[in-house]
Amino acid sequence: MRMDVAIIGGGSCGLITACLASQAGLKTILFEKQDRVGRKLLAAGNGWCNLANQDFSMDHYHGSAAGAAEKVFEVYGAEAIEAFWRDMGIEYAVRENGRCYPRSFQAASVVNALRRALRCQEKKNLLTLSLESAVTGLSWNEAEQAFSLKVQNPNNGVKGQTCQARAVVLASGGKASPMLGGCEDGYALAKSLHLPVTDLRPAICRLMSDDPQLKMLAGVRTTVPLSLYKDNTLVKTITDEILFTKESLSGPGALALSFHAGELLKNRQAGEKIFVKLDLAEEYSQGALFAYLSSRFAALEDANMLEALEGWMGRTLSLAVLKRCGINPNEAADALGKKKLGQLAAEMKAFSFEIKALDSFKDAQVTVGGIHASSLGDGLRSKKYPRLYLGGEVLDLNGDCGGYNLMFACASALWIANALSADLA
Ligand SMILES: Cc1cc2nc3c(=O)[nH]c(=O)nc-3n(C[C@H](O)[C@H](O)[C@H](O)COP(=O)(O)OP(=O)(O)OC[C@H]3O[C@@H](n4cnc5c(N)ncnc54)[C@H](O)[C@@H]3O)c2cc1C
Repeated sequence: MRMDVAIIGGGSCGLITACLASQAGLKTILFEKQDRVGRKLLAAGNGWCNLANQDFSMDHYHGSAAGAAEKVFEVYGAEAIEAFWRDMGIEYAVRENGRCYPRSFQAASVVNALRRALRCQEKKNLLTLSLESAVTGLSWNEAEQAFSLKVQNPNNGVKGQTCQARAVVLASGGKASPMLGGCEDGYALAKSLHLPVTDLRPAICRLMSDDPQLKMLAGVRTTVPLSLYKDNTLVKTITDEILFTKESLSGPGALALSFHAGELLKNRQAGEKIFVKLDLAEEYSQGALFAYLSSRFAALEDANMLEALEGWMGRTLSLAVLKRCGINPNEAADALGKKKLGQLAAEMKAFSFEIKALDSFKDAQVTVGGIHASSLGDGLRSKKYPRLYLGGEVLDLNGDCGGYNLMFACASALWIANALSADLA
């Protein structure tokens, strides 16, 4: 079988490239190792699929391929991405922090739109969708001017086809979320072609902590400013929802800090500690909070400490903060001494948790690291093999939480599809 284009991976980048390359008249085959395509897309944004973000800047991207990504976005930026989705029948609805979702708020409608487009191309015999087909070998044949791909069924190891293609798109994604197809295949294929691959670690994941108070806080959610510290040095502050679990800080706020926490954990010196501190009283400075609490406690007749605080931040958080300060929740609020009041105000301004590790790849959303940018030549073409194109998460590029990863998956697919039609014309 000889094709114009073989695409490895039926995630967002591979699917979009397959639609556009085949629409440009290129005979395209898409290999997907799972029994269906777009599984991460289906799970994205808790089933809502956060496709993009209106607050776009390269500050939201990290990794050696950020320079290449910037050039891709210069051509296929937010407007081109939105136009692509509109052409697919997917309009945006914008929610908090500029996050763009399909108007249906259903990831399935995004996957179905892509599947419809693929079906049209299959009917025109321009596209072959090969499911349960893991690409296990990739080599360039100079004499044939074509790549040779070895393909096998990942479930039974049965050797299937060998495919020849004039161009290959490596869109095999990252290692995160193995239940949804995350794996290291793409990195292994890249290494077999002597392309450099960086160390990998998870991101957009929970922050693990062994703080004993997490047991009582598990299940509590709150939206407050969250600050990441290396010892006493502030590294990053964001305001978003945090969810306590028995062994971690989770929720969008914690996930958003995980890339930066991962950097600190990776580079920390012996004895250095990493903390996340919650500001439970953002309206007040510590001094103003002291004054406010003092008047509040004096004004609340017959209130104990728990009663005086729970209207502010809920019962469980109040109990946890009081315990940290060694204050008995049954103690009369108007009898609290100045020293304890000062301690309480300080604790509420910086309710702190030491972060010991990141969660594993199993429950992470993205991979930090990947195929190093030094392997890229012009744009997303490989330097060594100009007909090999690298797109999406397999590259050493990760975006922040909030739609940035799907934005790059889409932009890279638009760029690659355009390059394919120019290069193979
Ligand atoms: C739970 C979850 C929620 C997320 N939510 C969001 C969100 O709301 N917004 C956002 O921007 N990002 C989100 N992300 C991240 C985003 O989904 C990914 O960054 C994006 O899907 C990457 O696209 P990709 O095409 O590069 O890779 P993927 O979508 O991972 O697709 C790669 C595909 O390649 C296949 N494959 C791998 N190896 C082979 C092989 N050897 N042969 C054949 N096929 C192979 C895999 O099975 C997979 O289907 C989320 C991720 C997860 C896990």
